[in-house]
Amino acid sequence: MMIVGLTGGIGSGKSTVAKMFEELGVPVYDSDKEAKQLMATSIKVKESIIELLGAASYVDGTLNRPYIAGKVFTDPILLEKLNKIVHPAIRSHFLEWAKAQTTPYVIQETALIFENDAQDKYDSTILVTAPLTLRLQRVMERDKVEKKAVVDRTKNQMEDGEKLKHADYHIENLDLAKTEAAVKVLHLKLLAKASKF
Ligand code: ADP
Repeated sequence: MMIVGLTGGIGSGKSTVAKMFEELGVPVYDSDKEAKQLMATSIKVKESIIELLGAASYVDGTLNRPYIAGKVFTDPILLEKLNKIVHPAIRSHFLEWAKAQTTPYVIQETALIFENDAQDKYDSTILVTAPLTLRLQRVMERDKVEKKAVVDRTKNQMEDGEKLKHADYHIENLDLAKTEAAVKVLHLKLLAKASKF
C-alpha cells in the first residue's frame, strides 16, 4: 500500500483537492477531522490532555476547544507537548485505517507535513498552493471570519517556497477546472508508481 501525504497552507484548497481524489476512488484520511474525533473519544488521549492542560479541557466529557486553543496558542512548548500526545495517536489510527483499504494508494490530508519534518512517513507528498491573498480571501469567505483571524492561523505554517523544496508533486490551485485536470494526471502517475510497490 502506497501512502501519499497531501498538504498545503490554509485556504490553498487541500480539502477541495482531496475531494477530487476521492471522486476518483482514492480513500482520503482527513487528519484534522480524525484528530478532533480522537481527542473526543480516545480515553488515553483524553487522560493525557487533562494531565497536560487541566480538567477544564473537557466540559461534560466534551472537548473544550476554545480553552485548549487559548492555552496552546501563545505557548509553543505546550503546543508541542499537546502534539506529542495527538500526533502518535493519529499516526497509529491512520496506519490501521490504511491497512483496511484495498486501493493501490491512499491519501492522508494533513495541514502540516514539512513543518513537522514528517515527509519521511510518506511514499510521496503533494503540495497544494495558491497566492496568500487569494487564500486569505477564500478562508474569510468560507469561515466567515476577519482577515486577522486567518493570518493568525497561517503563522505556524511554512512559506510555500520552502515547502516546494520538499514536495514530490505540486498542484497550483487557481482555476478549479485546471486543478481537476491536474489531479487526474497526478492520479495516473501515482497509480503507476503504486504498481511498483
Ligand atoms: P484548505 O483545505 O486548504 O483550507 P479548502 O479546500 O477548504 O482549503 O478551500 C478554501 C475555500 O476556497 C473553500 O470554500 C473552497 O470551496 C474554495 N476554493 C478552493 N479552491 C478554489 C478554487 N480553485 N477556486 C475558487 N474557490 C476555491
